[in-house]
Amino acid sequence: MPTAYFRFHDSLNFFLPRDQKDRLITHPYDHRGSVKDMIESLGVPHPEIEMIAINGRSVDFNTIVQHGASINVYPASAVPEIRARTILRDPYPTRPAFILDQHLGRLAAYLRMMGFDTLYRNDYHDEELAQVSHDETRILLTRDIGLLKRGVVIYGYYIRETNRHRQLAEITHRYNLKEQVVPFSRCMKCNGLVEPVERDQIADQLPEGTARYYDTFHRCTACGQIYWRGAHYQRMQSLLDEVLKDTE
Ligand SMILES: [Zn+2]
Repeated sequence: MPTAYFRFHDSLNFFLPRDQKDRLITHPYDHRGSVKDMIESLGVPHPEIEMIAINGRSVDFNTIVQHGASINVYPASAVPEIRARTILRDPYPTRPAFILDQHLGRLAAYLRMMGFDTLYRNDYHDEELAQVSHDETRILLTRDIGLLKRGVVIYGYYIRETNRHRQLAEITHRYNLKEQVVPFSRCMKCNGLVEPVERDQIADQLPEGTARYYDTFHRCTACGQIYWRGAHYQRMQSLLDEVLKDTE
């Protein structure tokens, strides 16, 4: 039977069964296929891959695997320096924008708090998540490996951490978000842009006493939610400081 030999690097080992992590994988196969299909059949979703080398040469996802091929697969964090690298996808074109699956509502609120355009609904279907991610060039963040393997997904990442604060640190590190944070510029509830508003305009919508204690107010241009620098704001600010400190 034809056989290919795979080696997955660094964070990609997360997706492999224990007995295949960090070692050469002997992979017999019974029909010819693209290197992308073979990699995904071993467990690794294509959006996590930044570079593939077959017999030392950088190749694209559609390359057909030949018998005896030695295949190295790299994530963004571990791409080796070589002269002629085949780019698997265009570099992400803008400030990061995200779409999150239904398990990541808290993370969505945090990303909005940091000022990143982040779509989240608890009733998105998988197909919709994948398609919107593709159509709007959004990075799909998910805890569903199968979703990331969908062909239309271009930019995506599987969240390893389960703790919400560590998830925020993980994403901050993965996408270098730290230098791009514009805190409290988006509505945590709806992702709308937030702008300053005069106290007089909203005083009747504030809880008792709030109007007296605070000077600065912001309002969401989409849903009308009002924000001020109260206890909730302070808690969020210190969470943000903590996460950004940890990713230094
Ligand atoms: Zn809003």
